[in-house]
Amino acid sequence: MAANPCLFCRIASGEIPATVIFRGEGVTAFRDIAPQAPTHVLIIPDQHISGAAEVTGVHDEMVGRLVRVAAEIARQEGIAESGYRLIVNQGRDAGQSVPHLHVHLLGGAQLRVPLG
Ligand code: 5GP
Ligand code: ZN
Repeated sequence: MAANPCLFCRIASGEIPATVIFRGEGVTAFRDIAPQAPTHVLIIPDQHISGAAEVTGVHDEMVGRLVRVAAEIARQEGIAESGYRLIVNQGRDAGQSVPHLHVHLLGGAQLRVPLG
């Protein structure tokens, strides 16, 4: 079988190394390779889905899990109290560069606004 070409599928399976900080419940979380804040973690489903635009009702539980794991990691990282931002980029105008659904968890410093 041909190798899975999706970068984040390969990180989820362990085929490509990353600083993984959580694995379980079909979710993997790892540190972003080019952090844009003191804490910058990506939370992904292990199963491939290209992005928010592909989410349907069958994904309700998984999407909830992504957000809950993000909140748990924020507590572990000590930023729950100071606050953090969760971001899902979808498509070209948002600058989505990896077509595998991922939630960015950013925090540990005052984050820039506006968002758009
Ligand atoms: P997007 O722009 O698609 O919302 O976010 C993709 C994120 O993945 C970027 O913040 C980028 O730095 C990160 N990224 C890209 N390639 C790798 C990689 O090989 N390893 C890790 N840990 N992060 C990556
Ligand atoms: Zn994938």
